[in-house]
Amino acid sequence: MRIDLVTIFPQYFTALDLSLIGRAGQSGLLDLRVHDLRGWTTDRHHSVDDAPYGGGAGMVMRPDVWGRALDEVLAQDPRVDEASTLGARRVLAIPTPSGSPLTQAMAEDLAGADHLVVACGRYEGIDQRVADYYRDAGREVVEYSIGDYVLNGGEAAALVLVEAVTRLLDGFMGNPESLVEESHSAGILEYPAYTRPRSWRGLEVPEVLLGGDHGAIRRWRQERAIDRTVERRPDLVEALPARLLDGAAREHLASRGYAAAETGARPLAIRPARPDEAPRIAALARRTFPLACPDSLPAEAIEDFCRTELSDESFDQMLADPAAHRILVAQVDADLVGYTLTVLSGPRGLPDGLVGGRIAPGAAYLSKCYVDEAWHGSGIAGALLEEAVVDVERTGAASQIVLGTNEANTRAQRFYRRHGFSRAGRRVFVVGGVENRDVVLVRKLTTAVPR
Ligand code: SAM
Repeated sequence: MRIDLVTIFPQYFTALDLSLIGRAGQSGLLDLRVHDLRGWTTDRHHSVDDAPYGGGAGMVMRPDVWGRALDEVLAQDPRVDEASTLGARRVLAIPTPSGSPLTQAMAEDLAGADHLVVACGRYEGIDQRVADYYRDAGREVVEYSIGDYVLNGGEAAALVLVEAVTRLLDGFMGNPESLVEESHSAGILEYPAYTRPRSWRGLEVPEVLLGGDHGAIRRWRQERAIDRTVERRPDLVEALPARLLDGAAREHLASRGYAAAETGARPLAIRPARPDEAPRIAALARRTFPLACPDSLPAEAIEDFCRTELSDESFDQMLADPAAHRILVAQVDADLVGYTLTVLSGPRGLPDGLVGGRIAPGAAYLSKCYVDEAWHGSGIAGALLEEAVVDVERTGAASQIVLGTNEANTRAQRFYRRHGFSRAGRRVFVVGGVENRDVVLVRKLTTAVPR
């Protein structure tokens, strides 16, 4: 790649002789040239600026001087082989605080150019007709900004562009692998990095990185990358398409307050249900319950169950008794899209079929964990389930949480197993008078923390 930098301060770019960029120049990967704009002035004072039309503070860089400079520089051949210069891609890059933000995607795109010419402004910037003229003449012109602040000149912004673009050139990095996981390459920020010494000023390297369990390390890094992005760059999270995240990453993102969706994650709240929400939760329960029923179950039986067990009144009663019924909801925008219902059995005991074997008599019963179909795969169900577990642990009322799920619903069983549940038996669950076979699953709770 050939890069030409045009500036009134050529010495500014001596920094480019250092490090990898200097080496790329020596190896022939990069042909980098710096030009003094004043070389194209015609007056005795070598002036490059004049007062702004329309008045105002400061001076503006003259289009006639820039025009002569850029005509000459843009006409130079980026490659030695004449035949191949025909289709060469040349880009005129003009740094300006009013330009489009320079992003990794833009750097990746510009790394595909053959010839990059950067016009470094000073004073109040370059006369707008320079960018307009070359664009109108069919040139590719990119007016870019390196951030929402104002520098004195475009040289620092040119250095930034050169660094961002050249490190992406084939053969530039010793280890191209290091480009793959970087911040911004996958739409999120990179996880934190650690090296020796293992203990430094009382701070330890996270234990998981020392164990050699590559699966655990990968998961830990993915979670920390998500945490960082949520804390520092919610704008990136809201632009992150779900397809870039696997199931575990989506669940972690949901636990951090965002539901993965195709067009970008949406703010998500998982919270206790309010007493006045009974009708909305009952409607959600009636929408979602049929989704988990086996095909063999007659529609009338499901309808009967919804009418009797999932009525507005039954949710009204449960919400009035939070000591026994814990209901959490998942909310995206104004919509309730998921809920859990956990029954603290207390002295009343567990429902039929759940007692005995490995199940402690006072176990909490996760009666429902449902998410609207449109949000399946978003990570909401996993985050809701974990929140329900923490909620029960906080009450200090139980040492186990138990549930029953239809034998045919292997997807649900896999989901609960991933969340630490294991099989403890079977039960019969009656839906609208029809008997169904359920698998009973149990998870041990960590030390109960009384409220
Ligand atoms: N009057 C201009 C404005 O408010 O948009 C600011 C001009 S600035 C003082 C002078 C030069 O610094 C610009 O022409 C541009 O080359 C460079 N510059 C300043 N801030 C920049 C930024 N955030 N990104 C890219 N270039 C910048």
